[in-house]
Amino acid sequence: MKGTILATNHQSVEGTCGNSGPGWQKAMKQAVRNGYALCDQLGLPHRFASAAAEQDFPVFAPLEYIRRMQPGNPQDPLLLQVLGMQREMEDQGSGLLDPVGDEAAQRAEGVLQKYKRRVLLITTGACAIHCRYCFRRHYPYETAPKGKAGFSRSLELIRQDAELDEVILSGGDPLTLADETLGWLVDELCQIPHVRRIRLHTRLPVVIPQRVCETLLDWVRRSSAAMYFVLHFNHAQEIDAAVSAALADLHRSGAVLLNQSVLLRGVNDSLEAQRDLCLALVDRRVVPYYLHQLDLVQGALHFAVEDAAAQALVASLRSELPGYAVPTLVREIAGQASKTPL
Ligand SMILES: *Cc1c(COP(=O)(O)O)cnc(C)c1O
Ligand code: SF4
Repeated sequence: MKGTILATNHQSVEGTCGNSGPGWQKAMKQAVRNGYALCDQLGLPHRFASAAAEQDFPVFAPLEYIRRMQPGNPQDPLLLQVLGMQREMEDQGSGLLDPVGDEAAQRAEGVLQKYKRRVLLITTGACAIHCRYCFRRHYPYETAPKGKAGFSRSLELIRQDAELDEVILSGGDPLTLADETLGWLVDELCQIPHVRRIRLHTRLPVVIPQRVCETLLDWVRRSSAAMYFVLHFNHAQEIDAAVSAALADLHRSGAVLLNQSVLLRGVNDSLEAQRDLCLALVDRRVVPYYLHQLDLVQGALHFAVEDAAAQALVASLRSELPGYAVPTLVREIAGQASKTPL
């Protein structure tokens, strides 16, 4: 299997908020789409970018995110998450295309179930950013159902299975869908009596915080199922005033806010980076949930941190922070009944 994340395809971004709306779709359209342009934005020489890496997985970074990077710093922790680099080409023999067994977990097209009581819907292939370490960077998104007709089939499967009390909207990033579609989907899910919780896995409030607009907050507030947002911050530098305001709005709308990070060598693998991130999150009412060991996807192995170093890092974190501020260190092992705590 080899597919692509489709943020670079304009058609994959639905158009209701358009020009009159809050501007997040415009922000996606204006995103930087190649490494040379990204280097230009930051005053870095082009040699830091790699066209070969971008052929494998295109660069995609909104200006809102780039503005939080430090100009002239090739080691910037935000830049390293999005710039395609030559070192990605060095693990082509050993990295996996489907490291977490997504293909084997398909119950229907775009519906994954690995664990009891909860299913995950691949709602879209589009993301608001391309993270170089992404474990789904080779997922075959073309096969996922699209639009209301596609979701109707997934809804039918959920309706028929009373064991499912939680539905996870994932992707890609579900918040690249229009609020009209998401509001409809949430309303439909709320009408299924056994669905008690709806969870969204999203990076959009991190990347383009104006995505947390009034129309989004409307469908969050009106959900009768408990709403959980699992955000994806990797570094405290990702949190600025606009992001803080978006988090406050989401929290006031009644959603529970959790965060998952990926432990990334050179980005957030120091005690200082983890402590600053966890504190910045809990100050904003976001509970650190998981710290993921990297999935060994082809092109990302240079980000890997040894298990022993990861465990030592989390042990140090535990000695510095309140228990609720320390995420659980996990690895996803294909075929297991849950994520595996380390
Ligand atoms: C990671 C994942 C979940 C969520 O697991 P939790 O431990 O509940 O956060 C659910 N379904 C799939 C397919 C997953 O990959
Ligand atoms: S990590 Fe999430 S936001 Fe980043 S490219 Fe992968 S699916 Fe998209």
